[in-house]
Amino acid sequence: MENRSPELPNTPYRGRLAPSPTGYMHLGHARTFWEAQERCRARGGTLILRNENLDQARCRPEFVAAIFEDLHWFGFDWQEGPDCGGPCAPYHQSQRVTFYRDAFERLKSDGFLYPCVCSRKDIEAALAAPHASDDQEPVYPGTCRQALRPDSAARKISWRFRVPDGETISFTDGRLGGQCFVAGRDFGDFVVWRHDNVPAYQLACTVDDATMRITEVVRGADLLVSTARQILLYRALGLEPPAFVHCPLMTDDAGLRLSKRHDSLSLRQLRIRGESPQAMRSAWGGVCSG
Ligand code: GLU
Repeated sequence: MENRSPELPNTPYRGRLAPSPTGYMHLGHARTFWEAQERCRARGGTLILRNENLDQARCRPEFVAAIFEDLHWFGFDWQEGPDCGGPCAPYHQSQRVTFYRDAFERLKSDGFLYPCVCSRKDIEAALAAPHASDDQEPVYPGTCRQALRPDSAARKISWRFRVPDGETISFTDGRLGGQCFVAGRDFGDFVVWRHDNVPAYQLACTVDDATMRITEVVRGADLLVSTARQILLYRALGLEPPAFVHCPLMTDDAGLRLSKRHDSLSLRQLRIRGESPQAMRSAWGGVCSG
């Protein structure tokens, strides 16, 4: 399956920044977001800020406030978002659950989903030779695929998307070129509705990018396999996928991927230390040009 680029000559470009307020934004986020903003500007497009705050256990209001402050300080400027409104409001995912619920019900009634009672521990135990896919999510062994397990009555149910085993999902990345992932090998049946009654990232992101009419998704390379999953959701929902660009992940001096634990490289700390955003952007050189 090959997705077509929707960047047709007359399609107005719409890009997005989709931070999760689970910590302060760091320099790695800023570099990826900068590429998103530059690509959008170069195409005369509209940039949307979406607050991905579905995981209420991990998201905190002070991090939402920090997203606006720190991104503006760094030089970001969006035209639609939670703070400035726009035609696709609301822009907080926590206020968009009816959209996700509708898509979920459609997927369920069209036979794409099945209930699953496996915990993370069950999955690890069921995998004789655990092999994580590229994004570290183990390939689901299919325990609940045919029927719910006998011990399921007392367990919480999540809902999984049944992937077409053996099918190659391919797409052309705007930076990395041709990408192929085999369903059932590189990634397995994935959760679209969590056992705690929260829509999962894959579903929420797909529904939002479609309803917000995003034409190009620019994000970190850790989400390459998720793009393959999301292409399956677009197809199941009868939606056209956007174009995709995945940016290299920033690492620290020890070669470790930057994470929200790298506090010294958070935009907040850099700002407190008086660093100049302009100088940091120049240090990236051409890496992030559109
Ligand atoms: N909110 C997601 C994250 O912070 C990004 C999702 C995306 O860009 O698709 O990892």
